[in-house]
Amino acid sequence: MAKDATKPVILWFRKDLRLDDNQALTAAHRSGRPIIPLYIREPAAAGTGPLGAAQAWWLHHSLEALDRSLRKRHGRLVLASGEALEVLCALIKESGAEAVFWNRRYDPSGTSIDIRIKHQLEKQAIEAKSFGDQLLHEPSRLMTGNGTPYRVYTPFWRALEGAGEPEPPLDAPAKLRPTSQLPKSERLDCWKLPPMKPDWAGDFTDLWTPGEDGAHEKLRAFVENALEGYKENRDYPARPATSMLSPHLALGEISPARIWDATRGLSQRVPAADIVHFRKEIAWREFSYHLIFHFPRLASANWNDRFDGFEWRNDSGDFEAWRRGMTGYPIVDAGMRQLWRHGWMHNRVRMIVASFLIKDLMVDWRRGEAWFRDTLVDADPANNAASWQWVAGSGADASPFFRIFNPVLQGEKFDPDGGYVRTYVPELRELGAKYIHRPFEAPKTILDEAGITLGQTYPKPIVDHANARNRALAAYNATRDAA
Ligand code: FAD
Repeated sequence: MAKDATKPVILWFRKDLRLDDNQALTAAHRSGRPIIPLYIREPAAAGTGPLGAAQAWWLHHSLEALDRSLRKRHGRLVLASGEALEVLCALIKESGAEAVFWNRRYDPSGTSIDIRIKHQLEKQAIEAKSFGDQLLHEPSRLMTGNGTPYRVYTPFWRALEGAGEPEPPLDAPAKLRPTSQLPKSERLDCWKLPPMKPDWAGDFTDLWTPGEDGAHEKLRAFVENALEGYKENRDYPARPATSMLSPHLALGEISPARIWDATRGLSQRVPAADIVHFRKEIAWREFSYHLIFHFPRLASANWNDRFDGFEWRNDSGDFEAWRRGMTGYPIVDAGMRQLWRHGWMHNRVRMIVASFLIKDLMVDWRRGEAWFRDTLVDADPANNAASWQWVAGSGADASPFFRIFNPVLQGEKFDPDGGYVRTYVPELRELGAKYIHRPFEAPKTILDEAGITLGQTYPKPIVDHANARNRALAAYNATRDAA
Protein backbone atom coordinates (compact mmCIF):
# COMPACT_ATOMS: atom_id res chain seq x y z
CA MET A 1 0.00 0.00 0.00
CA ALA A 2 1.46 3.41 -0.97
CA LYS A 3 2.18 5.55 2.06
CA ASP A 4 0.85 9.07 2.48
CA ALA A 5 3.85 11.40 1.99
CA THR A 6 2.50 13.86 4.54
CA LYS A 7 2.40 11.28 7.34
CA PRO A 8 5.56 11.26 9.43
CA VAL A 9 8.14 8.55 9.89
CA ILE A 10 9.32 7.93 13.43
CA LEU A 11 13.09 7.58 13.39
CA TRP A 12 13.91 5.61 16.51
CA PHE A 13 17.51 6.26 17.63
CA ARG A 14 19.08 3.62 19.85
CA LYS A 15 22.79 2.74 19.63
CA ASP A 16 23.25 4.93 16.57
CA LEU A 17 23.35 8.43 18.04
CA ARG A 18 24.60 10.10 14.88
CA LEU A 19 23.42 11.64 11.63
CA ASP A 20 26.46 10.64 9.57
CA ASP A 21 26.30 7.26 7.84
CA ASN A 22 22.97 6.41 9.42
CA GLN A 23 21.04 4.01 7.22
CA ALA A 24 17.66 4.43 8.91
CA LEU A 25 17.93 8.21 8.84
CA THR A 26 18.92 8.22 5.18
CA ALA A 27 16.00 5.97 4.29
CA ALA A 28 13.56 8.13 6.26
CA HIS A 29 14.95 11.25 4.60
CA ARG A 30 14.78 9.75 1.12
CA SER A 31 11.16 8.75 1.67
CA GLY A 32 10.38 12.48 1.54
CA ARG A 33 8.15 12.20 4.60
CA PRO A 34 8.43 14.40 7.69
CA ILE A 35 10.63 12.85 10.37
CA ILE A 36 10.08 12.53 14.12
CA PRO A 37 13.48 11.74 15.70
CA LEU A 38 12.88 9.76 18.88
CA TYR A 39 14.99 8.35 21.71
CA ILE A 40 13.33 6.04 24.23
CA ARG A 41 14.74 5.45 27.69
CA GLU A 42 13.83 1.78 27.96
CA PRO A 43 13.67 -0.14 31.24
CA ALA A 44 16.81 -2.11 32.21
CA ALA A 45 17.22 -4.85 29.66
CA ALA A 46 17.23 -8.41 30.91
CA GLY A 47 20.41 -10.20 29.87
CA THR A 48 22.56 -7.17 29.21
CA GLY A 49 21.89 -5.48 32.56
CA PRO A 50 21.06 -1.88 33.36
CA LEU A 51 22.78 1.11 31.79
CA GLY A 52 26.04 1.60 33.69
CA ALA A 53 26.66 4.82 35.60
CA ALA A 54 29.63 5.93 33.46
CA GLN A 55 27.79 5.31 30.21
CA ALA A 56 24.74 7.13 31.59
CA TRP A 57 26.98 10.21 31.89
CA TRP A 58 28.03 9.70 28.29
CA LEU A 59 24.48 9.14 27.08
CA HIS A 60 23.33 12.45 28.57
CA HIS A 61 25.95 14.42 26.65
CA SER A 62 25.50 12.36 23.53
CA LEU A 63 21.75 13.02 23.43
CA GLU A 64 22.40 16.73 23.88
CA ALA A 65 24.85 16.64 20.98
CA LEU A 66 22.40 14.72 18.78
CA ASP A 67 19.65 17.22 19.53
CA ARG A 68 21.97 20.10 18.62
CA SER A 69 22.82 18.46 15.27
CA LEU A 70 19.14 17.82 14.55
CA ARG A 71 18.20 21.42 15.36
CA LYS A 72 20.78 22.66 12.85
CA ARG A 73 18.80 20.68 10.27
CA HIS A 74 15.36 21.88 11.39
CA GLY A 75 14.71 18.81 13.51
CA ARG A 76 14.55 18.14 17.25
CA LEU A 77 14.99 15.05 19.36
CA VAL A 78 11.89 13.78 21.14
CA LEU A 79 12.62 11.99 24.42
CA ALA A 80 10.30 9.48 26.04
CA SER A 81 10.57 6.81 28.74
CA GLY A 82 8.91 3.41 29.02
CA GLU A 83 8.46 0.11 27.24
CA ALA A 84 9.40 0.81 23.64
CA LEU A 85 6.25 -0.69 22.11
CA GLU A 86 3.97 1.36 24.36
CA VAL A 87 5.88 4.57 23.65
CA LEU A 88 5.83 3.94 19.90
CA CYS A 89 2.11 3.14 19.85
CA ALA A 90 1.29 6.30 21.82
CA LEU A 91 3.43 8.41 19.49
CA ILE A 92 1.90 6.86 16.38
CA LYS A 93 -1.54 7.73 17.71
CA GLU A 94 -0.56 11.28 18.61
CA SER A 95 1.34 12.10 15.41
CA GLY A 96 -0.45 10.04 12.77
CA ALA A 97 2.89 8.45 11.82
CA GLU A 98 2.59 5.49 9.48
CA ALA A 99 6.14 4.19 9.71
CA VAL A 100 8.90 3.49 12.23
CA PHE A 101 12.51 3.13 11.03
CA TRP A 102 15.48 2.02 13.11
CA ASN A 103 18.94 0.50 12.90
CA ARG A 104 19.30 -3.02 14.24
CA ARG A 105 20.90 -3.96 17.52
CA TYR A 106 22.32 -7.43 18.06
CA ASP A 107 22.48 -8.07 21.80
CA PRO A 108 20.04 -10.74 23.04
CA SER A 109 17.54 -8.51 24.82
CA GLY A 110 17.61 -5.81 22.14
CA THR A 111 17.04 -8.37 19.39
CA SER A 112 14.08 -10.02 21.09
CA ILE A 113 12.40 -6.67 21.88
CA ASP A 114 12.83 -5.53 18.28
CA ILE A 115 11.39 -8.71 16.77
CA ARG A 116 8.29 -8.37 18.94
CA ILE A 117 7.88 -4.69 18.11
CA LYS A 118 8.21 -5.27 14.39
CA HIS A 119 5.57 -7.96 14.53
CA GLN A 120 3.16 -5.82 16.58
CA LEU A 121 3.57 -2.74 14.38
CA GLU A 122 3.05 -4.71 11.20
CA LYS A 123 -0.14 -6.14 12.69
CA GLN A 124 -1.35 -2.54 12.99
CA ALA A 125 -0.38 -1.86 9.34
CA ILE A 126 2.48 0.39 10.45
CA GLU A 127 5.55 0.13 8.25
CA ALA A 128 8.38 -1.14 10.50
CA LYS A 129 11.75 -1.07 8.75
CA SER A 130 15.07 -2.01 10.25
CA PHE A 131 18.52 -1.41 8.80
CA GLY A 132 22.02 -2.71 9.48
CA ASP A 133 24.62 -0.11 10.30
CA GLN A 134 26.06 -0.95 13.70
CA LEU A 135 28.44 -3.47 12.13
CA LEU A 136 30.34 -3.83 8.88
CA HIS A 137 28.52 -7.05 8.06
CA GLU A 138 25.29 -8.58 9.31
CA PRO A 139 26.15 -11.41 11.75
CA SER A 140 23.76 -13.69 9.86
CA ARG A 141 25.61 -13.09 6.57
CA LEU A 142 29.13 -14.14 7.47
CA MET A 143 28.91 -17.90 8.02
CA THR A 144 31.25 -20.84 7.60
CA GLY A 145 31.09 -23.06 4.50
CA ASN A 146 28.73 -25.35 6.47
CA GLY A 147 26.34 -22.50 7.14
CA THR A 148 27.24 -22.40 10.83
CA PRO A 149 28.48 -19.39 12.80
CA TYR A 150 32.20 -18.83 13.30
CA ARG A 151 33.65 -19.81 16.67
CA VAL A 152 37.28 -18.96 15.90
CA TYR A 153 38.52 -15.46 15.12
CA THR A 154 41.09 -16.08 12.36
CA PRO A 155 38.73 -17.75 9.87
CA PHE A 156 36.13 -15.12 10.78
CA TRP A 157 38.62 -12.40 9.89
CA ARG A 158 39.42 -14.14 6.60
CA ALA A 159 35.74 -14.33 5.77
CA LEU A 160 35.30 -10.66 6.63
CA GLU A 161 38.21 -9.71 4.40
CA GLY A 162 36.88 -11.96 1.66
CA ALA A 163 33.42 -10.39 1.85
CA GLY A 164 34.84 -7.30 0.13
CA GLU A 165 35.00 -3.68 1.14
CA PRO A 166 32.06 -2.35 3.14
CA GLU A 167 29.70 0.03 1.35
CA PRO A 168 31.05 3.61 1.36
CA PRO A 169 29.60 5.60 4.27
CA LEU A 170 26.67 7.96 3.70
CA ASP A 171 26.89 11.65 4.49
CA ALA A 172 24.32 13.18 6.83
CA PRO A 173 21.40 14.90 5.06
CA ALA A 174 21.90 18.68 4.95
CA LYS A 175 18.34 19.38 6.03
CA LEU A 176 15.49 17.29 7.38
CA ARG A 177 11.81 17.63 6.69
CA PRO A 178 10.30 18.31 10.10
CA THR A 179 6.71 17.57 11.14
CA SER A 180 4.37 20.53 11.38
CA GLN A 181 3.82 19.77 15.04
CA LEU A 182 6.47 17.89 17.00
CA PRO A 183 5.15 15.74 19.83
CA LYS A 184 5.93 16.68 23.42
CA SER A 185 9.28 15.58 24.71
CA GLU A 186 10.45 14.70 28.20
CA ARG A 187 13.28 16.87 29.53
CA LEU A 188 16.75 15.35 29.45
CA ASP A 189 17.82 16.88 32.75
CA CYS A 190 14.83 15.19 34.45
CA TRP A 191 16.38 11.82 33.53
CA LYS A 192 19.24 12.62 35.93
CA LEU A 193 21.77 10.61 33.97
CA PRO A 194 25.02 12.31 35.07
CA PRO A 195 26.17 11.90 38.70
CA MET A 196 25.40 14.87 40.93
CA LYS A 197 26.77 14.53 44.45
CA PRO A 198 29.54 13.54 44.33
CA ASP A 199 30.34 14.34 40.71
CA TRP A 200 32.79 11.49 40.17
CA ALA A 201 32.77 12.12 36.42
CA GLY A 202 34.50 15.48 36.83
CA ASP A 203 37.68 14.32 35.06
CA PHE A 204 35.90 12.61 32.17
CA THR A 205 35.96 15.78 30.09
CA ASP A 206 39.81 15.71 30.15
CA LEU A 207 39.56 12.93 27.61
CA TRP A 208 36.09 12.81 26.16
CA THR A 209 33.74 14.87 24.05
CA PRO A 210 30.61 12.75 23.63
CA GLY A 211 28.73 13.15 20.37
CA GLU A 212 29.56 12.62 16.75
CA ASP A 213 31.78 15.69 16.38
CA GLY A 214 33.94 14.33 19.21
CA ALA A 215 34.04 10.95 17.49
CA HIS A 216 35.15 12.42 14.18
CA GLU A 217 37.82 14.47 15.92
CA LYS A 218 39.17 11.33 17.66
CA LEU A 219 39.24 9.51 14.31
CA ARG A 220 41.02 12.37 12.57
CA ALA A 221 43.63 12.71 15.31
CA PHE A 222 44.25 8.96 15.36
CA VAL A 223 44.67 8.63 11.60
CA GLU A 224 46.99 11.65 11.51
CA ASN A 225 49.10 10.94 14.59
CA ALA A 226 48.90 7.36 15.78
CA LEU A 227 47.84 4.95 13.04
CA GLU A 228 51.44 4.81 11.88
CA GLY A 229 53.12 2.60 14.49
CA TYR A 230 49.80 1.30 15.87
CA LYS A 231 50.79 -2.37 15.64
CA GLU A 232 53.80 -1.86 17.89
CA ASN A 233 52.62 0.95 20.14
CA ARG A 234 49.09 -0.22 20.94
CA ASP A 235 50.28 -2.46 23.78
CA TYR A 236 51.99 0.32 25.76
CA PRO A 237 49.46 2.06 27.99
CA ALA A 238 51.57 5.19 28.54
CA ARG A 239 51.68 5.92 24.79
CA PRO A 240 48.80 7.79 23.11
CA ALA A 241 48.70 5.03 20.52
CA THR A 242 45.11 3.80 20.17
CA SER A 243 42.08 5.51 18.67
CA MET A 244 39.98 5.83 21.85
CA LEU A 245 36.94 5.44 19.63
CA SER A 246 35.38 2.71 21.78
CA PRO A 247 32.86 4.85 23.72
CA HIS A 248 31.80 6.55 20.49
CA LEU A 249 31.31 3.15 18.87
CA ALA A 250 29.45 1.83 21.90
CA LEU A 251 26.67 4.39 21.46
CA GLY A 252 26.95 4.49 17.70
CA GLU A 253 28.22 8.06 17.37
CA ILE A 254 30.39 6.86 14.54
CA SER A 255 29.90 3.89 12.26
CA PRO A 256 32.51 1.19 11.74
CA ALA A 257 32.13 1.80 8.01
CA ARG A 258 33.18 5.44 8.49
CA ILE A 259 36.23 4.30 10.47
CA TRP A 260 37.13 1.67 7.89
CA ASP A 261 36.77 4.23 5.15
CA ALA A 262 39.18 6.59 6.93
CA THR A 263 41.90 3.93 6.71
CA ARG A 264 41.61 3.68 2.90
CA GLY A 265 44.10 5.27 0.53
CA LEU A 266 46.82 5.74 3.18
CA SER A 267 49.32 3.19 1.92
CA GLN A 268 51.78 5.89 0.76
CA ARG A 269 52.09 7.22 4.29
CA VAL A 270 51.19 4.41 6.72
CA PRO A 271 52.67 0.89 6.67
CA ALA A 272 50.14 -1.71 5.59
CA ALA A 273 50.85 -3.73 8.76
CA ASP A 274 49.51 -0.89 10.93
CA ILE A 275 46.37 -0.45 8.84
CA VAL A 276 45.65 -4.17 8.80
CA HIS A 277 46.25 -4.50 12.53
CA PHE A 278 43.84 -1.67 13.28
CA ARG A 279 41.22 -3.16 10.97
CA LYS A 280 41.70 -6.48 12.73
CA GLU A 281 40.74 -4.84 16.03
CA ILE A 282 37.60 -3.44 14.45
CA ALA A 283 37.00 -7.02 13.30
CA TRP A 284 37.35 -8.26 16.91
CA ARG A 285 34.38 -6.07 17.72
CA GLU A 286 32.51 -7.63 14.79
CA PHE A 287 33.48 -11.08 16.06
CA SER A 288 32.13 -10.31 19.55
CA TYR A 289 28.81 -9.30 17.99
CA HIS A 290 28.84 -12.34 15.76
CA LEU A 291 29.24 -14.51 18.88
CA ILE A 292 26.62 -12.80 20.99
CA PHE A 293 24.12 -12.82 18.14
CA HIS A 294 24.51 -16.54 17.48
CA PHE A 295 25.18 -17.61 21.08
CA PRO A 296 23.13 -15.19 23.22
CA ARG A 297 23.97 -17.00 26.46
CA LEU A 298 27.54 -15.70 26.08
CA ALA A 299 26.29 -12.48 27.72
CA SER A 300 25.94 -14.09 31.13
CA ALA A 301 26.87 -17.79 31.09
CA ASN A 302 30.12 -19.64 30.44
CA TRP A 303 30.27 -20.19 26.70
CA ASN A 304 32.22 -23.35 27.50
CA ASP A 305 30.02 -24.96 30.16
CA ARG A 306 32.93 -27.01 31.48
CA PHE A 307 33.67 -23.89 33.55
CA ASP A 308 30.30 -24.16 35.30
CA GLY A 309 31.91 -26.39 37.92
CA PHE A 310 34.80 -24.00 38.65
CA GLU A 311 35.08 -23.29 42.40
CA TRP A 312 35.32 -19.50 42.61
CA ARG A 313 36.53 -18.06 45.91
CA ASN A 314 34.59 -14.78 45.45
CA ASP A 315 36.18 -13.18 48.50
CA SER A 316 34.49 -9.81 48.96
CA GLY A 317 37.56 -8.16 50.53
CA ASP A 318 39.69 -9.14 47.53
CA PHE A 319 37.03 -7.91 45.14
CA GLU A 320 36.83 -4.58 46.94
CA ALA A 321 40.64 -4.15 46.87
CA TRP A 322 40.57 -4.85 43.13
CA ARG A 323 37.73 -2.40 42.47
CA ARG A 324 39.47 0.36 44.42
CA GLY A 325 42.90 -0.21 42.88
CA MET A 326 44.45 -1.27 46.20
CA THR A 327 45.84 -4.72 45.42
CA GLY A 328 49.51 -3.85 45.95
CA TYR A 329 50.31 -4.68 42.31
CA PRO A 330 50.99 -1.28 40.69
CA ILE A 331 49.92 -2.08 37.11
CA VAL A 332 46.63 -3.54 38.34
CA ASP A 333 46.00 -0.59 40.64
CA ALA A 334 46.88 1.93 37.94
CA GLY A 335 44.38 0.30 35.57
CA MET A 336 41.58 0.20 38.11
CA ARG A 337 42.20 3.83 39.02
CA GLN A 338 42.31 4.88 35.37
CA LEU A 339 38.85 3.35 35.20
CA TRP A 340 37.60 5.41 38.17
CA ARG A 341 39.13 8.59 36.83
CA HIS A 342 38.36 8.44 33.13
CA GLY A 343 35.77 5.68 32.72
CA TRP A 344 38.15 3.87 30.39
CA MET A 345 41.16 1.57 30.57
CA HIS A 346 43.84 0.64 28.09
CA ASN A 347 43.29 -2.77 26.42
CA ARG A 348 46.55 -4.34 27.63
CA VAL A 349 45.75 -3.30 31.19
CA ARG A 350 42.15 -4.59 30.89
CA MET A 351 43.65 -7.99 30.15
CA ILE A 352 46.00 -7.75 33.12
CA VAL A 353 43.37 -6.65 35.65
CA ALA A 354 40.88 -9.22 34.38
CA SER A 355 43.44 -12.02 34.61
CA PHE A 356 44.33 -10.87 38.13
CA LEU A 357 40.70 -10.88 39.27
CA ILE A 358 39.82 -14.22 37.72
CA LYS A 359 43.00 -16.15 38.31
CA ASP A 360 44.98 -14.57 41.17
CA LEU A 361 41.87 -13.76 43.21
CA MET A 362 39.57 -16.43 41.78
CA VAL A 363 36.58 -14.11 41.56
CA ASP A 364 33.92 -15.09 39.02
CA TRP A 365 34.46 -13.22 35.73
CA ARG A 366 30.79 -12.12 35.83
CA ARG A 367 31.51 -9.87 38.82
CA GLY A 368 34.32 -8.21 36.90
CA GLU A 369 32.15 -7.91 33.82
CA ALA A 370 29.39 -6.22 35.85
CA TRP A 371 31.88 -3.77 37.42
CA PHE A 372 33.25 -2.86 34.00
CA ARG A 373 29.70 -2.46 32.71
CA ASP A 374 28.99 0.05 35.43
CA THR A 375 32.24 2.00 35.17
CA LEU A 376 33.32 1.98 31.52
CA VAL A 377 32.10 4.72 29.21
CA ASP A 378 32.54 2.19 26.39
CA ALA A 379 30.59 -0.61 28.14
CA ASP A 380 29.42 -2.81 25.32
CA PRO A 381 27.26 -5.92 25.75
CA ALA A 382 29.18 -7.92 23.14
CA ASN A 383 32.78 -6.74 23.63
CA ASN A 384 32.63 -6.77 27.41
CA ALA A 385 31.19 -10.26 27.88
CA ALA A 386 33.27 -11.77 25.05
CA SER A 387 36.49 -10.20 26.35
CA TRP A 388 35.92 -11.29 29.96
CA GLN A 389 35.23 -14.82 28.78
CA TRP A 390 38.29 -14.65 26.55
CA VAL A 391 40.49 -13.90 29.57
CA ALA A 392 38.68 -16.45 31.76
CA GLY A 393 39.31 -19.18 29.21
CA SER A 394 35.60 -19.97 29.11
CA GLY A 395 34.88 -18.07 25.89
CA ALA A 396 35.04 -18.81 22.19
CA ASP A 397 38.60 -18.97 20.83
CA ALA A 398 39.70 -17.94 24.33
CA SER A 399 43.11 -17.59 25.88
CA PRO A 400 43.72 -20.89 27.72
CA PHE A 401 43.07 -20.70 31.47
CA PHE A 402 46.61 -21.79 32.30
CA ARG A 403 48.02 -18.69 30.59
CA ILE A 404 48.13 -16.53 33.73
CA PHE A 405 49.55 -13.03 33.48
CA ASN A 406 52.29 -12.16 35.94
CA PRO A 407 51.35 -8.57 36.87
CA VAL A 408 54.93 -7.60 37.66
CA LEU A 409 56.40 -8.89 34.40
CA GLN A 410 53.52 -7.47 32.38
CA GLY A 411 54.10 -4.09 34.01
CA GLU A 412 57.83 -4.22 33.33
CA LYS A 413 57.32 -5.23 29.74
CA PHE A 414 54.59 -2.80 28.74
CA ASP A 415 55.24 0.12 31.10
CA PRO A 416 59.03 -0.15 31.33
CA ASP A 417 59.75 3.23 32.87
CA GLY A 418 56.58 3.20 35.01
CA GLY A 419 55.06 6.31 33.45
CA TYR A 420 51.58 4.80 33.34
CA VAL A 421 51.72 3.69 36.97
CA ARG A 422 52.95 7.09 38.13
CA THR A 423 50.06 8.83 36.35
CA TYR A 424 47.39 6.87 38.19
CA VAL A 425 49.08 5.80 41.46
CA PRO A 426 50.49 9.08 42.77
CA GLU A 427 51.74 7.55 46.03
CA LEU A 428 54.39 5.69 43.94
CA ARG A 429 55.38 8.76 41.94
CA GLU A 430 58.84 9.09 43.48
CA LEU A 431 59.80 5.44 43.02
CA GLY A 432 62.37 4.68 40.27
CA ALA A 433 61.83 2.33 37.34
CA LYS A 434 63.64 -0.59 38.99
CA TYR A 435 61.00 -1.08 41.68
CA ILE A 436 57.97 0.70 40.26
CA HIS A 437 56.28 -2.62 39.42
CA ARG A 438 57.57 -4.45 42.52
CA PRO A 439 57.62 -1.98 45.42
CA PHE A 440 57.31 -4.92 47.83
CA GLU A 441 60.87 -5.97 46.86
CA ALA A 442 62.41 -2.51 47.25
CA PRO A 443 64.89 -2.00 50.09
CA LYS A 444 63.59 0.14 52.95
CA THR A 445 66.00 2.98 52.16
CA ILE A 446 64.61 3.31 48.65
CA LEU A 447 61.04 3.22 49.89
CA ASP A 448 61.88 5.85 52.52
CA GLU A 449 63.44 8.10 49.91
CA ALA A 450 60.29 7.77 47.80
CA GLY A 451 58.08 8.54 50.82
CA ILE A 452 56.44 5.09 50.74
CA THR A 453 55.50 2.97 53.73
CA LEU A 454 54.08 -0.31 52.51
CA GLY A 455 50.86 -1.20 54.28
CA GLN A 456 50.29 2.49 55.07
CA THR A 457 50.81 4.79 52.08
CA TYR A 458 50.48 1.96 49.55
CA PRO A 459 49.19 -1.59 50.16
CA LYS A 460 51.30 -4.70 50.44
CA PRO A 461 50.28 -7.28 47.77
CA ILE A 462 46.95 -8.86 48.76
CA VAL A 463 48.15 -12.21 47.36
CA ASP A 464 51.51 -13.70 46.52
CA HIS A 465 51.33 -14.12 42.74
CA ALA A 466 53.27 -17.42 42.58
CA ASN A 467 51.03 -19.03 45.24
CA ALA A 468 47.89 -17.58 43.73
CA ARG A 469 48.87 -18.96 40.35
CA ASN A 470 49.29 -22.47 41.75
CA ARG A 471 45.97 -22.21 43.58
CA ALA A 472 44.18 -21.17 40.37
CA LEU A 473 45.77 -23.96 38.34
CA ALA A 474 44.78 -26.53 40.99
CA ALA A 475 41.17 -25.31 40.86
CA TYR A 476 41.23 -25.42 37.07
CA ASN A 477 42.65 -28.96 37.02
CA ALA A 478 39.99 -30.10 39.49
CA THR A 479 37.27 -28.69 37.20
CA ARG A 480 38.85 -30.35 34.18
CA ASP A 481 39.18 -33.73 35.91
CA ALA A 482 35.56 -33.60 37.07
CA ALA A 483 34.28 -32.87 33.54
P1 FAD B 1 41.70 0.68 19.40
O1 FAD B 1 42.92 -0.11 19.66
O2 FAD B 1 41.87 1.99 18.78
O3 FAD B 1 40.73 -0.24 18.53
C1 FAD B 1 39.70 0.32 17.69
C2 FAD B 1 38.38 -0.34 18.02
O4 FAD B 1 38.46 -1.75 17.80
C3 FAD B 1 37.95 -0.20 19.47
O5 FAD B 1 37.33 1.03 19.71
C4 FAD B 1 37.01 -1.38 19.63
O6 FAD B 1 35.73 -1.12 19.11
C5 FAD B 1 37.68 -2.44 18.77
N1 FAD B 1 38.56 -3.26 19.60
C6 FAD B 1 39.84 -3.02 19.95
N2 FAD B 1 40.33 -4.02 20.70
C7 FAD B 1 39.32 -4.90 20.86
C8 FAD B 1 39.19 -6.14 21.54
N3 FAD B 1 40.20 -6.69 22.20
N4 FAD B 1 37.99 -6.78 21.50
C9 FAD B 1 36.96 -6.26 20.81
N5 FAD B 1 37.04 -5.09 20.14
C10 FAD B 1 38.19 -4.42 20.17
N6 FAD B 1 35.70 -2.93 24.42
C11 FAD B 1 34.57 -2.23 24.37
O7 FAD B 1 34.33 -1.52 23.37
N7 FAD B 1 33.65 -2.29 25.38
C12 FAD B 1 33.84 -3.07 26.49
O8 FAD B 1 32.97 -3.12 27.36
C13 FAD B 1 35.07 -3.80 26.58
N8 FAD B 1 35.33 -4.55 27.68
C14 FAD B 1 36.53 -5.24 27.74
C15 FAD B 1 36.79 -6.03 28.86
C16 FAD B 1 37.99 -6.74 28.95
C17 FAD B 1 38.25 -7.62 30.16
C18 FAD B 1 38.94 -6.66 27.91
C19 FAD B 1 40.23 -7.41 27.99
C20 FAD B 1 38.68 -5.89 26.79
C21 FAD B 1 37.48 -5.18 26.67
N9 FAD B 1 37.19 -4.38 25.54
C22 FAD B 1 35.99 -3.70 25.48
C23 FAD B 1 38.05 -4.40 24.33
C24 FAD B 1 39.14 -3.31 24.27
O9 FAD B 1 39.84 -3.24 25.48
C25 FAD B 1 38.60 -1.93 23.93
O10 FAD B 1 37.73 -2.00 22.82
C26 FAD B 1 39.74 -0.97 23.58
O11 FAD B 1 40.61 -0.85 24.68
C27 FAD B 1 39.16 0.38 23.24
O12 FAD B 1 40.18 1.33 23.04
P2 FAD B 1 40.39 2.01 21.62
O13 FAD B 1 39.08 2.48 21.09
O14 FAD B 1 41.46 3.02 21.80
O15 FAD B 1 40.90 0.77 20.79
